[in-house]
Amino acid sequence: MQKPLPSVTLESKLPHVGTTIFTVMSALAVEKGAVNLGQGFPDFDCDPALVDAVTAAMEHGFNQYPPMTGVPALREAIAAKIAQLYGHRYDANAEITVTAGATQALLTAILCAVRQGDEVIVIEPVYDSYVPAIELAGGKPVTVQMTLGPNGYAVPWDEVAKAVTPKTRLIMINSPHNPTGTIFDERDIAALSDIVRGTDILIVSDEVYEHMVFDGRRHDSMCRYPELAARSFVVSSFGKTYHVTGWKVGYVAAPAALTAEFRKVHQFNVFTVNTPAQHGLAAYMQNPAPYLELAGFYQHKRDLFRAGLEATRFRLLPCDGTYFQCVDYSAISSVPEAEFAKWLTSEIGVAAIPVSAFYGTPRESGIVRFCFAKKDETLQTALKRLATM
Ligand code: PMP
Ligand code: GLN
Repeated sequence: MQKPLPSVTLESKLPHVGTTIFTVMSALAVEKGAVNLGQGFPDFDCDPALVDAVTAAMEHGFNQYPPMTGVPALREAIAAKIAQLYGHRYDANAEITVTAGATQALLTAILCAVRQGDEVIVIEPVYDSYVPAIELAGGKPVTVQMTLGPNGYAVPWDEVAKAVTPKTRLIMINSPHNPTGTIFDERDIAALSDIVRGTDILIVSDEVYEHMVFDGRRHDSMCRYPELAARSFVVSSFGKTYHVTGWKVGYVAAPAALTAEFRKVHQFNVFTVNTPAQHGLAAYMQNPAPYLELAGFYQHKRDLFRAGLEATRFRLLPCDGTYFQCVDYSAISSVPEAEFAKWLTSEIGVAAIPVSAFYGTPRESGIVRFCFAKKDETLQTALKRLATM
């Protein structure tokens, strides 16, 4: 008789983390046959020219490891785009690194910057990957909540200033902001600049929705402001910009000294990123039209979706950027957000994300998030269902 094997236990490094809300709601949407306006991804395909460019790269034999930092032509194209749009010229060799999506860029930036006991300021509602990444690095997340007023969500910078201590290593920011659709303006930039001036505080700026800013407003990248760019890891993702969330290619732009530290972690984290996708993206980026036209493309969808929602009992919150629309459902129901989102998915056939999932200690505001990165027909079907409520 074989002796039973001793069982092993592993004390979780992330005891509070379960399956992400995006995965949970997508699975429920499939199970219930609901229109999935939950997880943020397009239900339409990317430009066939982009697929052709990646296919051509594979056919040309670009199938082995690229340089650790990314394919030079892609780093050059990224640097040129940033210079053109935001007026800051990064050195493509020393200051741009291609990553496996924004998620890896964020984790890597946090791992290289945050040491045991360092404090990191995060602003709630907060994208789900930030806090676990800070905890894995041994850091302590310090949360400040956005305020919710008649003009939507805003960052209370006086609260952020109060949260700064000698242990503050990093501030995580995200504009355009997931899930609220809020975008930074000059006042936000001025307040942030005042807070960090004269300190060693670094900034991780998650700008994955940089090209989705509406109504003629502009994206205030950290790259526009030399004193902020000098302390920032600026993160973006091709997944959002080119409708290819499944490709997982993104990048980080940061001053040479920060990039050097980033790359020390990056090379042992993924080492390199998919070669043919990088060559394809480099060729495709030569034409700026797709990213320049993205705001108009999504503004049409936002307007179509908002116009339809006007006819429902949801109250619309502002949406200045991203492909997310938040709505207040308190005229319809008083159940908690997670429960409401599940009911909406199961009974009405439209999946949404509870905004409470973006808080460490769930905060109930009666608000859910819809993703409008969908075909117009998909949005129409969802609106018809929502109108029955
Ligand atoms: N940051 C934010 C704010 C996001 O919404 C997302 C994905 N939707 C990411 C980062 C991750 O991007 P990627 O898929 O490129 O890893
Ligand atoms: N970022 C996407 C969203 O906010 C989801 C990405 C994921 O599933 N991790 O919906």
